[in-house]
Amino acid sequence: MFNPLFSHSRRNLARWFTGSMGSILVLFAGTMFFLETQEQMRAFDQELLGKTRTMAAAVKYRLHEGRWQMELNDVPVLGSNSIPYDSEVRYVRWYDREGRLTRFVGPVPPDRLAIAPGFVTLSTPQSLRQITLPVVQNQESLGYLQVAVPLTPVRSNLQQLRLFLAVGVPLALALIGTAGWLLGGFAMQPIQHAYERLQRFTADASHELRTPLAALLSNIQIGLVKPATNPETQERRLHKLVDITKSMTVLVTNLLLLARHEAALPKGTLQTVDLVPLLKDMAETFALEAVHHDLQFECALPDTAIAVRADADLLRQAIANLLSNALKYTPAGGKVELRLTAMTQRALIQVNDTGIGIPAECLPHIFERFYRVDAVRTPDRQQPEKSGGFGLGLAISQQIVQAHGGTIHVTSTVGNGSCFAIELPLTNGRFRRVQPP
Ligand code: ADP
Repeated sequence: MFNPLFSHSRRNLARWFTGSMGSILVLFAGTMFFLETQEQMRAFDQELLGKTRTMAAAVKYRLHEGRWQMELNDVPVLGSNSIPYDSEVRYVRWYDREGRLTRFVGPVPPDRLAIAPGFVTLSTPQSLRQITLPVVQNQESLGYLQVAVPLTPVRSNLQQLRLFLAVGVPLALALIGTAGWLLGGFAMQPIQHAYERLQRFTADASHELRTPLAALLSNIQIGLVKPATNPETQERRLHKLVDITKSMTVLVTNLLLLARHEAALPKGTLQTVDLVPLLKDMAETFALEAVHHDLQFECALPDTAIAVRADADLLRQAIANLLSNALKYTPAGGKVELRLTAMTQRALIQVNDTGIGIPAECLPHIFERFYRVDAVRTPDRQQPEKSGGFGLGLAISQQIVQAHGGTIHVTSTVGNGSCFAIELPLTNGRFRRVQPP
């Protein structure tokens, strides 16, 4: 279902599509009708000319007192209603070279030739096509043969075509309109989804910012109403304000990160990165933190380089999110493991832990923005670094990995631990073995 904004755009798209395609269709139908009319008339005239020529050739002439005259036996009988040449012929008229009526068949014509040689369409009472053909023998004009036939065949052909277009064009327009409506829907769908995602994201972000902002405001108000009398209370209050501000900074930084790297990274920003030293460096940092949490930290890296095209800082951030989650959600005494393996065309980075795990019903949502498994495990929104966080870490990791053309997966069992796996395409799609220095 589309919201009113998108329904309106969809209607407009359908209207524009129907308008433009309909105009093309009408133009096409009009041109087709015009050309067909021309062609039908041309063929009809050609036939009439042939018929008239045959009549002219069938008539015999004789020289009488120095002038060519028709032989009476061979011409239609004057004033007769029967037309001997062709039953489709409405009338035949003979005019001498001065344009005087000599013989005729059919309705009584004017005495003088009124129309110049050529074709003409007469519309009374029935549509007739008339030809006036000059008859010449031995380069001497003998007179004019005027023949008229009804235009009925052409008219009925064109009438049929008109009927076909009158039914076909509106039908085609209706089909175009429906297609436009459906296509508009298809075109609108991804835009609507993106719009809804953006709306949800803005709503979620504002909601998340409201809590620390309210805490900030209330702490400042308390400070104003009851100014601290001793420096210790003052310092505690200021530390609290710093903590809240820090958490808001983290949230805003994460939101910006998500907003910036929505699409695939531009090729120019990627460099060939050897994952082995990058992960080794990260392992050293997180091993120290693991000690701090009373956790065992293991790192399994290959001896040879594994190169991928990446933005090293972003990739580091994606892996760091997984590692800090593993430390965060693994109770003291547990184990966190970082592994790197080269597969046929991909590099596989795994972050395994023996922590609390994730319930199966939560796994499909785990990479959604602001998703946290439960409030009990992630209670303190004002101090995310001390609790579960904002629920943005995995969304950020996934977005970064996808922007690199990779994938991220999770398998987890409650009480046993979780395994997060990142797969990235190797440089040139192949694993390149480079000897370490
Ligand atoms: P947060 O900042 O809240 O940790 P994340 O997006 O990183 O947000 O994680 C989302 C939720 O997934 C967390 O709230 C946590 O409940 C769960 N989670 C993530 N990683 C692990 C893990 N390694 N073990 C158990 N639960 C995890």
